[in-house]
Amino acid sequence: MTSKTIRVYLLAVLASMVVAAGWWSTKASFTRPSSSVVDYSAQIFVDADGGLGFEEVRNLSPNDWTTAETDKGPLSLGYSDSAYWIKLAFRHAPSADDLLVIDYPLLDYVDLYQVSGEQLVSEYHVGDMRHFDNRPIETTAFSFPLFSTSTLSAIYLRVQSKGTLKVPLSFEDQSTLVERAQTASLFLGTYLGYMFLMIVTNLVLSAVADDKNYLLYAVYVFGMTTLNLNLNGVLFHWVWPQAPEWNPIATNLISFGTVFFQLVFVCRYLQAVSGWMKGAADTLRMLAVVGMLTSFVPEWYSVASLAGAFLVLASNLLAVAISLNFCLKREKRVLGEIYFAVAWVVMAIGIGVVALGVSGVLPATPMVNNAGVLASLLEVFFLSAALADRYEKERQARIDATLQSRREAQQRQMVERHMLFQATHESISHLPKKEVLLENWPKLREQVGEEYRVNAVLIHFEGYYQQVLAFGQEAAESLVHSLHESVRRLVASQSQYMTVDVEWNNDKAVVLDTLDLCLILVRPTGEDITKDLENLQLSLSEPQIYRDMSLEMDITIGVSQHLGNEPIRQTIRRAQVASKEASQRRLKVLHYRNKLGLDPEFTTVMMSRLKVALEQRQLKLAFQPQINTYDGSVFGVEALIRWRDEEYGQVSPETFIPIAEQSSMITALTHFVVDEACAFYQRFEQRNGHGIRVSINLSARNLADDSLIPFVSQTMDKYRVPASMLTFEVTETAIMGDLNSSRESLEQLVELGVNIALDDFGTGYSSLVYLKELPFSELKIDKGFLLKDAHTKRGAGLIRAAVQLGTSLGMTVIAEGVETNELARQLADYHCVLCQGYHYGRPMHEPEFEAWYKEYDNKRNVIGRQNEITH
Ligand code: C2E
Ligand code: CA
Ligand code: CA
Repeated sequence: MTSKTIRVYLLAVLASMVVAAGWWSTKASFTRPSSSVVDYSAQIFVDADGGLGFEEVRNLSPNDWTTAETDKGPLSLGYSDSAYWIKLAFRHAPSADDLLVIDYPLLDYVDLYQVSGEQLVSEYHVGDMRHFDNRPIETTAFSFPLFSTSTLSAIYLRVQSKGTLKVPLSFEDQSTLVERAQTASLFLGTYLGYMFLMIVTNLVLSAVADDKNYLLYAVYVFGMTTLNLNLNGVLFHWVWPQAPEWNPIATNLISFGTVFFQLVFVCRYLQAVSGWMKGAADTLRMLAVVGMLTSFVPEWYSVASLAGAFLVLASNLLAVAISLNFCLKREKRVLGEIYFAVAWVVMAIGIGVVALGVSGVLPATPMVNNAGVLASLLEVFFLSAALADRYEKERQARIDATLQSRREAQQRQMVERHMLFQATHESISHLPKKEVLLENWPKLREQVGEEYRVNAVLIHFEGYYQQVLAFGQEAAESLVHSLHESVRRLVASQSQYMTVDVEWNNDKAVVLDTLDLCLILVRPTGEDITKDLENLQLSLSEPQIYRDMSLEMDITIGVSQHLGNEPIRQTIRRAQVASKEASQRRLKVLHYRNKLGLDPEFTTVMMSRLKVALEQRQLKLAFQPQINTYDGSVFGVEALIRWRDEEYGQVSPETFIPIAEQSSMITALTHFVVDEACAFYQRFEQRNGHGIRVSINLSARNLADDSLIPFVSQTMDKYRVPASMLTFEVTETAIMGDLNSSRESLEQLVELGVNIALDDFGTGYSSLVYLKELPFSELKIDKGFLLKDAHTKRGAGLIRAAVQLGTSLGMTVIAEGVETNELARQLADYHCVLCQGYHYGRPMHEPEFEAWYKEYDNKRNVIGRQNEITH
């Protein structure tokens, strides 16, 4: 229902009301001629304390009476508690079926005595303070049948009321009275119907719009309607005819109550009521409450009803002031608010007219007498229009808000989806990350039938750093991404590779880290997959063109078969191990063949065995010397962990370190290594009279662990190891996991005074900018970097560039995996004089190392490069 239709509907009802009212007012005239022309004189006697009876009044001397002017319309006797006696003497008596009518329903006591000759022939005692049933004719106006008119000589009328005394006398024949009563009840019925409709409509609106304003408004309309009904004597007639004592109570209670709800409604509706108006509203509301309470004290009725009348007028004027003020203050005048203000203006005028009518200033025409009812009709029309307008506005606002929030939700969803994509995909190639595979795996697994074998295929790009050093970071990155692109294109059409990124781009390749991609290969059991993989390797090994340069990266592939229901990450890990081995052994494709057998529970078994070994301190350290080839001296040692399992024999750290890294076991393992390495230092010093530099490897998880720093600090104290003699080696992959927390840990380590080495340089993939920011004092060039390339011309250039890079960043450069003196010389040529490798010594347990050290002859290893020493 829009505001417009509501208004139309209100208007229709109002129009019918006006028509009814108009018709009724033409019918109902106060100077109604009776069927015969009645001619009478009226005299008034005021009995101040109201104690005189009929006989006493009848016997009063004529001088006690004053003559009333009957031709000036209804008798208006003012606001008085006194009893008024009116004596009517007829010059021309009314006809037999005439009735005497007093058309004012608010008289408390009306006593009528008819005298024929000297005889009292009939008497009636009616009024609002007496039972309704006492009335000879049951109408809300007082009407009395007349005694046989030919003999009627006088009528004595006694009226007394707490409130306004009006005695509009008339003589009417029965049929006119009936007609008038019908018209009146039609009018009242229409009025009631209209008000009832308004109340119901607003109750419904209140429920639908969940807005208390409509409820308050309905209550106010209800109050006003009851007030009007009460003032018209309708309630007395129909609701409590046997309980006249309710009349005064009801009048006051309802008028105070209406004032109360009116003010609550107005203030609530216009919310921003403040200043003196708010003060006035609060005061009037309080007075209304007091008024309601005093309504129950009969003695205070007159005062209270007078106060009630004033309060009704005052609160309406206040409502006018508040709503006009609101209208004027608004920059943009809204139709609804204008309606609202007009409603109160109309009501204030109506009440004013009623007040003036009651006090006799205005003549008692039907319009004046019914100004209250008419005003309330108009008021309700305007208020309803105002509320309909507001309802429509709020409805529109709600629709707008809903649309807006839906738009926002859509945008949010889009952003979230984008963020989710960013988080789960590689930034440039947009290939999915490992998490996508791990999450989708259970569903993907279900698609594979019994007769198929699932394999994890790990594609590793070799020599990223060589490319960086030879052609620059940009070229190398572009090469890596064009390789990603090649893999994506190549496998897209090959159905044996599984679609992994079902939710986004239907990609098949997963990025583990930028240099490692993973595919899931599904082939029937028993079929050889080597050919597939060799083809893949071959296609990817083709040179990539970058800005007219032909760039090349070595590709190695590791494969592992998915076993039973093991988590796919285990399969991937084995494929990684295979690819690493492939790269070391310079193979193109290598299947994971565990020396320990393909036990699916392998990791779990290893984990528990390693745990026991660690608890029982069965692990040992081996120490590998690092030589300074300038003078052949021993620069330091790297501590490398060794584990000999009773059942599996010697297990490589490349196998069990990743397993330990999967749980918090790595913490215990590192603590063990730190403790053993420091103990070694102390013993070494005691035996040889001087210390030796010791390097210790850290895992990614150690950097995120709060216990590391305090533990290192304690252990150094325990074995009296000078901080400068310790070096911690970390790989860039370990750091890049969580750059900020790694940076923090590294800085704390530096604060302890120990050295930090960047391990495995040349195998990773990170922007050199980051490395610059971190507090490394040593750079370890990975053995893979040297083993493959040193002998080629390009390789030599790369090694030179790597050394220069480290030097320029202020780091001590150590080469790892130096297996020949030739390589050592080459390195020395590039100003790298620190070497570690089998050429000088394998990793040795302490007794062997001790023996080696005793035997060590530094002269053997002097290469020396005058003027140019780097460390
Ligand atoms: P890494 O830090 O790169 O250690 C150097 C590896 O190269 C050692 O293998 C060492 O034996 C080997 N190596 C040394 N010289 C030569 C050479 O001339 N030629 C060849 N081909 N290899 C050489 P290892 O001891 O098997 O250790 C493997 C990896 O295990 C280490 O690589 C390191 O990442 C990890 N690791 C070893 N010990 C620990 C440890 O105590 N804690 C942690 N977190 N990781 C460790
Ligand atoms: Ca190392
Ligand atoms: Ca290394």
